Amino acid sequence: MKFTTALLLASGLGLAAVQAATIDDHVFAAHKAAGLDYPGTFARVCIQPPNSGDALASARRTAGAAAAPQPPRPTPARDAWYAEPGHPFDNLYWLGSKVHNSWALKTSAGIVIIDTLYNYASETEIVGGMKKLGLNPADINYVIVTHGHGDHDEGARLLQDKFGAHVVMGTADWDAIAKAGNMPGGVPKRDIAVSADQKLTVGDTTISIITTPGHTPGTLSMIFPVKDHGKTITVAYNGGTAFNFPRTPANFDIYIASQKKFAAAAKAAGAVALISNHTEFDGAFYKARIARAAGDTSPFVVGSDTVQRYFTVTSECAEAAKMRLKGS
Ligand SMILES: [Zn+2]
Repeated sequence: MKFTTALLLASGLGLAAVQAATIDDHVFAAHKAAGLDYPGTFARVCIQPPNSGDALASARRTAGAAAAPQPPRPTPARDAWYAEPGHPFDNLYWLGSKVHNSWALKTSAGIVIIDTLYNYASETEIVGGMKKLGLNPADINYVIVTHGHGDHDEGARLLQDKFGAHVVMGTADWDAIAKAGNMPGGVPKRDIAVSADQKLTVGDTTISIITTPGHTPGTLSMIFPVKDHGKTITVAYNGGTAFNFPRTPANFDIYIASQKKFAAAAKAAGAVALISNHTEFDGAFYKARIARAAGDTSPFVVGSDTVQRYFTVTSECAEAAKMRLKGS
């Protein structure tokens, strides 16, 4: 009799402990998952940032609010952002700045650019970087913009106008940028709008585009193959990470559901490399520019478990941020 009661009590306590996860429990789980692989992601989303002017401007734009008159954004000094391009996989090229990533995926039927940087950097880094790496910008036939924020979409109009590239973006983000009405570099003309998971095949390369609303309502993530010294590697590209959206419990739930959905898709596809659109999230500023010796595995190749840990970081930090809203 006493034994049964003790057992019931023990199992009851166990259950209570599971139900009472605290903010710290979520932060510690994220910290463990981040390890030495994703310190920048952990710092950005688990250590609650203040509501800076930038974050509020992004949130207003995400919500589709008409652009309030803003003072012109100063262009940072070139030394603050310029980076030489890199060539981390046989057919994937890095055209980023010190802060943001842009990529060229070379296929048998043209080049796909993924994310386009701020307007001040796009011509120098993307067009100039391609020429430095021996790529012809006239071969760009698609531009995929992971979401409609200035650090990823301001170069899209340039590539559309100069090279006739098709621009792919989430439907909700096309709507938001049209409503905002202006952006440095010009608003791209509405082209391919994605509102459900779909595949984009360009020559020998098929890109699985996966809708991951949360960072913005139209955020797109991707899974695609690249070659590493001839070996096929599957890459997961996370399209939106930070919490500069209107912070509500419902929005965090949408974000968490998307991260879990994309993690499952990455696992099913056998993704062993994780890349993103900010160098602080994936270390691309360093990893993409390491000289590739014959036989070296790309530093982006980390294995399926480490790819999965990225999504544990983002989901657990979102759980913590959601709990902070309630003051619990
Ligand atoms: Zn963003």
